[in-house]
Amino acid sequence: MSAAYAQLHQLLKHLYHAEQLLEHGPRRIVAAQNKVAAAEQACVDQKEQIQLLKKAADQNSLNLKSREADIQKLTGQLNQASSNKEYDIIQAQISAAKAGDAELEDKILSLFSQIDEATEELASRQEQLDLAKQKSSDVAAEVKEKEPGLKAEVSRLTAEIEQVEKAIPGGESNSAYKRLRASMGPSALALVDDGFCSECNTGATQQDVVRMNLGEFVLCRACGRILYQVGHEAS
Ligand SMILES: [Zn+2]
Repeated sequence: MSAAYAQLHQLLKHLYHAEQLLEHGPRRIVAAQNKVAAAEQACVDQKEQIQLLKKAADQNSLNLKSREADIQKLTGQLNQASSNKEYDIIQAQISAAKAGDAELEDKILSLFSQIDEATEELASRQEQLDLAKQKSSDVAAEVKEKEPGLKAEVSRLTAEIEQVEKAIPGGESNSAYKRLRASMGPSALALVDDGFCSECNTGATQQDVVRMNLGEFVLCRACGRILYQVGHEAS
């Protein structure tokens, strides 16, 4: 009887493990798909950023051209100046326009270098996206490959557990077992090791030990788990 509890405990642990792996598969697929979506979004964001930089560079280039036209126009006016005073005023306007030009040119150069950097970043993000897609398809294939084996293991273990559960006395014991298993899974049972419950470390009483040796249904007085011993088979 005690051996049946030990076997039941092992089977419940294996079942729990197989079920965890089975549930873990779809979660891994979703996680990998989420990474692909995030990597795709990162590329979209970067492309938008590059577009904005290009637009700013174009606008500044246009401004520069229009300023150059202004300077040409002022230079023409300079030649037709009718007085020294007028000449000086136009000269000052030309100087101011040229100073503004230099600033604009710097700004445009800086934008071009930002576009280069952003384009490199986009290439790196696209590599990340390719890796994420590869990983996602690998994960999906792996999960799909393992699923039938895990499902078969779950059914095999479930059938074995049903057989071993027959060793549990009916009535109150059986409903206590069902309740414990539903709430705690494999942790519904606890091995008594050297006289102590291995889950909560509470000592089993002499009476518990005698009853366990008889293969009776014994619950830990502290944690309520089903207790069993190994190597103390009732004869
Ligand atoms: Zn206990």
